[in-house]
Amino acid sequence: MKNNMRLLIVGGVAGGASSAVRARRLSENAEIIIFERGPFVSFANCGLPYRVGNVIKKEDDLLVTTPELFKGWFNIEVRTHSNVCRVDRKKQEIEIESRTTDTVYREKYDALVLAPGAAPLKPPVEGIDLPGIFTIRSIPDSRVVMDWINRKNVRHAAVVGGGFIGLEMTENLKHLGLDVTLIEMLPQVMPTMDPEMAVYIHDHLISKEVTLCLGSPVTGFRQNKDERIDVLTAADKTIPADIVILAMGVRPEVELAQEAGLTIGDLGGIQVDQRMQTSDPRIWAVGDAVEVKNAITAQPGLVPLAGPANRQGRIAADSIVGIEPHDHLFRGVQATAVCGVLGLTIASTGLTEKQLQRLPDNQIGRDYEKIYLHPSHHANYYPDAKSITLKLIFSTPEGRILGAQAVGLAGVEKRIDVIAMAIQKHGTVFDLEEAELCYAPQYGSAKDPVNHAGMIAANILRGHLEIAHWEQQALTGKYVLDVRTASEFKNGHIENAINIPLHQLRQRMAEIPIDRDIWVYCLVGQRSYFAMRILAQTGYRVRTLSGGFLIYKAIRKISL
Ligand code: FAD
Repeated sequence: MKNNMRLLIVGGVAGGASSAVRARRLSENAEIIIFERGPFVSFANCGLPYRVGNVIKKEDDLLVTTPELFKGWFNIEVRTHSNVCRVDRKKQEIEIESRTTDTVYREKYDALVLAPGAAPLKPPVEGIDLPGIFTIRSIPDSRVVMDWINRKNVRHAAVVGGGFIGLEMTENLKHLGLDVTLIEMLPQVMPTMDPEMAVYIHDHLISKEVTLCLGSPVTGFRQNKDERIDVLTAADKTIPADIVILAMGVRPEVELAQEAGLTIGDLGGIQVDQRMQTSDPRIWAVGDAVEVKNAITAQPGLVPLAGPANRQGRIAADSIVGIEPHDHLFRGVQATAVCGVLGLTIASTGLTEKQLQRLPDNQIGRDYEKIYLHPSHHANYYPDAKSITLKLIFSTPEGRILGAQAVGLAGVEKRIDVIAMAIQKHGTVFDLEEAELCYAPQYGSAKDPVNHAGMIAANILRGHLEIAHWEQQALTGKYVLDVRTASEFKNGHIENAINIPLHQLRQRMAEIPIDRDIWVYCLVGQRSYFAMRILAQTGYRVRTLSGGFLIYKAIRKISL
């Protein structure tokens, strides 16, 4: 592309703004114009729930950059209130409706970046447009929600959708002192987690007095006599609310691209190559509107997250400005994400077990294994250690890391970030076992939870640890051994389990039948591993139940 080209950008937030400033840094001569439909560019949409909750006190704090700063620092022109309504590929022009002057005009481009993002889903059900029902995508959206809460003496909120935005809105509405009912169509919140991991989120939400209404698709909304809204669910349950927040997911905004005849993928996102180039060599597309390759399965996916949008914006600019060599390519996504809700951190990277089970056979390896562990976020002897529940999934026999999920009160995202990086480098559990990570008592342990996960998984692959899973547990026929203390056992145990506390195991081994399959468990999986090693070396056929009694309880909850 020539150095004094005209680069036009549609959409001025994460992907669009990144593209613009990167292009400027690479080309001082290009003319760069951003067109943004709304009143703001480069605002922190991720901060909107916290603005509603008044955690972010000033709206201005959401403005990462302003049109003045774009001009002053980068010599980039920003036109807000400017809706791009057509792309004329033949003439290399776009058509813009100016919402300030009520005029329609055209601009020519040498290169065009589409960064229109994704729109919140609003299913076509009865009453969806009633006053008091809102979605959150922009600063004006946050204003109307805050205004409604203040003017209408709102006491009870219903949040529909238990994904990231639904959970963040739940947290912030609770901050405002509202009663919140969280309604989710699936039997679990956070669909990016496996169900047994989501149980920890459910328990936490309930402990914080959030009312959960799971497995309840919303069928409509009705205004009731007190000007409140009745949320109607398929289970014939009616939930009255003073305000309803819809957080039911998003759909890529592809109308412009579609009308221009650009190729749209099977999932409904704009199709792009690794340089973020669309089917037209003069047009690039980035962010929530595009379909991207999953870095592990190579399948297309829609991953509406800010990190990929920002990185794609840079890649598109590099490709447009033509920096050589053309080796800055988008590697794909693995959906690394974190979310906080009322003190609990939930983070994940890579594939979930649900996703793995849906993949065609042999797509990513012969087989997979999973482990659960509950390490402390820092040294146990240092005050205030909090437990993390971590699930690691890896291929067998190679040990390639396929995914990880974690929940806990502290130190969760750090572990998932480390594992995310290992996945990006095609790492194995042996890499986690040997990872050299920083340590001091208030930050971690000499054997960090990441090392710990790698060690357990490596033990399995090397044949030093045989595990079983609770859901495989046709316990009939198995001799189930509980190696916790007598008082732990008394407080709850698996039916028919025999209690021999670990410290008595060597003396009481004769009580355990040598001709039976032994499945041993403890609270989290550590004492049962020690027991397993003792028994295996004495000639027993023995497995430990991964994740211990804690995972057993979680699995029982989902099967109830
Ligand atoms: P956007 O940032 O949505 O920008 C698209 C812009 O294009 C919009 O401003 C729109 O007005 C404009 N536009 C669209 N069509 C046109 C047109 N025809 N003409 C002119 N302008 C147009 N991600 C995370 O990773 N972590 C989080 O914590 C997180 N929290 C979030 C919280 C909320 C409430 C929301 C809404 C999103 C959150 N996200 C989060 C997602 C993240 O914000 C998006 O993935 C990211 O902003 C996508 O960037 P984008 O450039 O594709 O689209």
